[in-house]
Amino acid sequence: MIEYKILKAGYCLQNELCSIIKGKNKQTKFYAMFVLLKHEKYGNILFDTGYSNYFYEASQFFPYSIYEKITPVFTDKQNSAKYQLEQLGINSNDISYIIISHFHADHIGGLKDFNNAKFICHKEAYSYLKNKKGVSALKEGFLPNLLPDDFEKRLITLENKIISSDFKPFDSYYDVFNDKSILAFDLSGHAKGQIGILVNDKFFAADSCWHSKSYKKNLPPPLWVRLLLGDNKEYLKTLDKLHQFYDKNPEIEIIPSHCNDFWSKYV
Ligand SMILES: [Zn+2]
Repeated sequence: MIEYKILKAGYCLQNELCSIIKGKNKQTKFYAMFVLLKHEKYGNILFDTGYSNYFYEASQFFPYSIYEKITPVFTDKQNSAKYQLEQLGINSNDISYIIISHFHADHIGGLKDFNNAKFICHKEAYSYLKNKKGVSALKEGFLPNLLPDDFEKRLITLENKIISSDFKPFDSYYDVFNDKSILAFDLSGHAKGQIGILVNDKFFAADSCWHSKSYKKNLPPPLWVRLLLGDNKEYLKTLDKLHQFYDKNPEIEIIPSHCNDFWSKYV
């Protein structure tokens, strides 16, 4: 069993209509989740980092400034992953690994605060973005300046894909530390090479959907949002898999990164 703590670092404001079909027409706070995991051998590990003040620097100039205009972001020093971990008695230099679900700013916003961490992600998630700059990066919700200068040196991509029918309808997974403690699943669609992780009985599903209602009822965001972000077909395929997985595995709790249902329970 892995100990874990669900935390949040900053939020953005967005109309709920953009996040789910039949959503309410109201401005909603979407908190940026990150998860602290305690691994027996590797110590403190993070799944994503949420936002941090680096976001404001990285989105200061055109065209990246458009990001902030479309999605107003609210965070400060006290809300950063680094600061919150310090309050828990954990120095940011003692984080050994950060598993990155995908490279949107609300997931990688704090990477620069973790000087000793190695980064783990799906190979395609990074290779697809690494040469993108300016408008082509912005279109993918990627702010290149959020990456530390030595990012590539510290990067480990998931390689050992295990073909298995243990987690149907997913037909494969990655055993992140080769000890079955953290399993990563391909959740491409919202972003290329997006991954979610299964830890104990919790499935952290990143942005494969934004509400628990989405995977329970197979309700995606509206078409125009799916066309704007990522790959529409893949998005629907992944959400359908998650929906089936939910049906087959009632003992596993699926937790999307920005779903407000979980805050009162876990944070
Ligand atoms: Zn995202």
